[in-house]
Amino acid sequence: MMSDCIFCKIVEGKIPAKKVYEDDDLLAFHDINPAAPVHVLVIPKQHVESLADCDASHAAVLGKLFVKVGEIAAGLGLNDGFRTIVNTGRVGGQEVYHLHAHILGGPQPVGPLVTRV
Ligand code: AMP
Ligand code: ZN
Repeated sequence: MMSDCIFCKIVEGKIPAKKVYEDDDLLAFHDINPAAPVHVLVIPKQHVESLADCDASHAAVLGKLFVKVGEIAAGLGLNDGFRTIVNTGRVGGQEVYHLHAHILGGPQPVGPLVTRV
């Protein structure tokens, strides 16, 4: 655990979160500042900063995370689809440096992926 990491603190129960799923390796909770009617974050419990910091040792948990994204989305009733975003680093717009996948959904389409150049 990284002592100054906000998502590690959520994993440790030191900061509250509205949890939607938890197992030994993963935690999912509602984003505190939602960008869509449904906005959930899925994180590995073990701290890793971003996809840029992953190697082969992270393959199993990353695979498990993305399988669980679909299951969590189904559990949230996102039957018409959803968007999954993983921001990486400064250019990717990452704000919290503990790897997380955003699940965004709602009754309406969530909008364009990015503004085209
Ligand atoms: P990113 O820009 O991909 O790093 O996204 C970080 C996300 O974490 C943002 O959507 C924030 O609203 C969200 N966030 C920050 N702090 C918390 C918190 N304590 N509980 C839930 N979500 C949070
Ligand atoms: Zn962390």
